[in-house]
Amino acid sequence: MSYEKTWAENPKLNETEKKKLVKDGLEIYKDIPYYAENGFDSIPKEQWDMFKWAGLYLQRPKEAGYFMMRVNVPSGILTNNQAIVLAEIARDYGRDVVDITTRQAIQFHWLRIEQIPDILQRLENAGLSSAGACGDITRNIVGNPLAGIDRNELFDTTEIVKDVYEFFQFNEEFSNLPRKYKMSISANTYNASNAEINCVAFTPAVKDLDGTRVNGFHVKVGGGLSARPFLAKTLDIFIRPEQVKDIAIAITTIFRDYGYREKRHLSRLKFLVADWGVDTFKEKLLELTGPLPEKGEDATEGWNAGYFYGVHEQKQDGLYYAGFNVPVGRMNASELLEVARIAKAYGNGDIRTCNSQNFLIPNVPKENIEALLQEPLFQRINQQPQSFIGHAVSCTGIEYCNLALVETKERLRRIATYLDEQLTLDVPVRIHMVGCPNSCGQRQIADIGLQGVKMKTADKRMVEAFELYVGGTLLDGGTYNEKLKGKVDGEHLPAVLYEFLSVFKTEKLPNESFFSY
Ligand code: SF4
Repeated sequence: MSYEKTWAENPKLNETEKKKLVKDGLEIYKDIPYYAENGFDSIPKEQWDMFKWAGLYLQRPKEAGYFMMRVNVPSGILTNNQAIVLAEIARDYGRDVVDITTRQAIQFHWLRIEQIPDILQRLENAGLSSAGACGDITRNIVGNPLAGIDRNELFDTTEIVKDVYEFFQFNEEFSNLPRKYKMSISANTYNASNAEINCVAFTPAVKDLDGTRVNGFHVKVGGGLSARPFLAKTLDIFIRPEQVKDIAIAITTIFRDYGYREKRHLSRLKFLVADWGVDTFKEKLLELTGPLPEKGEDATEGWNAGYFYGVHEQKQDGLYYAGFNVPVGRMNASELLEVARIAKAYGNGDIRTCNSQNFLIPNVPKENIEALLQEPLFQRINQQPQSFIGHAVSCTGIEYCNLALVETKERLRRIATYLDEQLTLDVPVRIHMVGCPNSCGQRQIADIGLQGVKMKTADKRMVEAFELYVGGTLLDGGTYNEKLKGKVDGEHLPAVLYEFLSVFKTEKLPNESFFSY
């Protein structure tokens, strides 16, 4: 290693930290061929967690030896070949399941260790990687899925995201961070990348510098969800697009060297930022970067929550993109193959994933739009979905996740379908469901957040239940939703939501949104 591990002598390091000092997470790549050759039983239990650095988790139950794999899709941008390769992996090894995550990544299930070398090779050949998709390392960098084609972007962020992503990929100077580390880079003026929930976020801004109006970024730090959610706060700096990588490296260095490594539940960057405050954080940053100009004007105009349904004009004359709904983010391999075929037949082949667990097809000439929309696939994967299913986001849940307390994905799909049958509203209501406090389904930013818990019934049975949270948004810097009293058992949840939303429908003003209600 070419840097000093300043924390190594701390006697209070947690057990994970001690393990990481002995063996860096990325070293799991060296072990995978041996384990693949010798089978799941050859993997020592204490090594299981290290697979995260390769984007691999053991799915529930761990002893069964099936892995979940998350593949990075920086800014959600996939080429046609990459989409085909991902679909083929799901078809050949992943029992046909393809999930789009809330960080624009692709997730597989049911993988065996024997299959991992071939999967990694296929990914590498396609210019894809699962490295750092999990673990205490820089995760997939989320961004504007419309980068380069967006009428609402200050400038194209495609190359910036690529540059930063590639710098941190397999970079052993930054593969031992105190905890997971999430970055967003977007110049979309509708905050398509959910800036405030990231550890570090680059957001669009403008500033007069030496008499010239310059497009660049503001920088937010210290956001994050889970049990103690924080909204990222803006540092008083303005940076030019070409400075993003250096600033990202400096902030990550601060997190690596000063982040907390004693209690894992207090180790995210958000806790360091909360303790230091943004002014101290900025001072420390400037020690590494040298002077930077103060903030300019924020160019963010609103929040679209990552939704792009329907057909829209691109910044390129004559070209359009079409946004589609993947119900609760789950599709099968043949559907993804069909999306790739359609994207190639009518567009330039590219596909973009969104953090609303959906996708869009860009670069479609006007004359191809009608035929594209007639494709039979788009009866289920709809460009104008019904309101509730179109705004339902769910984490993986008990089907595969070891931390889950309840079933989520299929349950939310059923609930949203039921609500669409029963209720018509003139505004969307975004419902997010998570199976535990870790919030992979980002319940804190939902209009209605549903968080799984266990509950004892009157007749003393333990059942799956939900806490209800209301009023989350990332408009105007963001407000996390607030918990309502009590819990609702899973069985009665659809009826309770129906009653609740019926009151909303009756009492609201025309076009009044759930947040402003
Ligand atoms: Fe698993 Fe909890 Fe994340 Fe859902 S929110 S996928 S249950 S860790």
